[in-house]
Amino acid sequence: MNESHRIDVSRGSLEGTNSAYVLPKRGVVVDPGPPGDDAWDRLVSGIEETGLELRDVSSVLVTHWHVDHAGLAPRLCETSDATLYLHESDAAFVADYAAARRERVDRDARKLAAWGVPNETVESVVAGDRPSPMPDEYPVESLVDGDTVVGVETIHTPGHTLGHAAFVAHGDERNDATLFVGDAVLPTYTPNVGGSDTRVADALETYQGTLSNLRERAAASRQTETAHPGHGAELSLGPRIDEILTHHEIRTERVYDCVEKRGPLTPWQVATHLFGEMCGIHVKMGAGEAAAHLSALAAAGRVERVGDESGDDEPVVYATDP
Ligand SMILES: [Zn+2]
Ligand SMILES: [Zn+2]
Repeated sequence: MNESHRIDVSRGSLEGTNSAYVLPKRGVVVDPGPPGDDAWDRLVSGIEETGLELRDVSSVLVTHWHVDHAGLAPRLCETSDATLYLHESDAAFVADYAAARRERVDRDARKLAAWGVPNETVESVVAGDRPSPMPDEYPVESLVDGDTVVGVETIHTPGHTLGHAAFVAHGDERNDATLFVGDAVLPTYTPNVGGSDTRVADALETYQGTLSNLRERAAASRQTETAHPGHGAELSLGPRIDEILTHHEIRTERVYDCVEKRGPLTPWQVATHLFGEMCGIHVKMGAGEAAAHLSALAAAGRVERVGDESGDDEPVVYATDP
């Protein structure tokens, strides 16, 4: 029941090759991949190689709204007459793609301004944010934590996006489970938090909570110690989570040192000190990452925040006590 196959769909994003997964006995596909004919051809031949006919795909589960994961979902569902599922907080990005995208671009621009990104840079990010070849609207079934689709359970894993979900396929045997983690845990790249979905408040703390939740679940069931990520091949969950948490602890200290030495600073100023020159999508990722660490430091009482992230007034700035 739990046999799963990975398909190397394509080089869809910053994070490297996208992985789609097929559970042929359940008729389930997880994260079909980015839009486009190349990825589609790989997906279709990958599904058929497992012995599953395209028309027997019944459920398409998508871990989060990013187009390199959700892009092919409407096409696959249309072709196989399958149902498309996303966590309720990410569902609108496919169900109502055109409207949700417009809202997102506006929200991203406001956030970038609040993080201190200069106007011309915000404008260039907005201009470079092109629509993907997705239907304006497509029917989506919303999931919440604990929901099950043909024996595959949803775990809400917010952080990278607000409605990010991991999926656990429970087998017939006790402790037999296969875990798909999307971009919540990746083998080589540290998933971006802060810039990858500007709706997530307290992005770093939210993401750290997700990692603890996944680690506890892995500890409770030895079979989910191996996880299947949205990019690349399987990984060992506990050790990889430790590495990612350590990476963030080190980065938090670097952000703190930067504010201590040079503050008061906006998130954008911190990002340019840490990451150097940025353009395109990296502006959002870099500024968002710095903002997430600064806001965690402020919540811990280690730095002070002046202003807010509404984008209506002056950019938010952070300083250590004089
Ligand atoms: Zn993603
Ligand atoms: Zn991704």
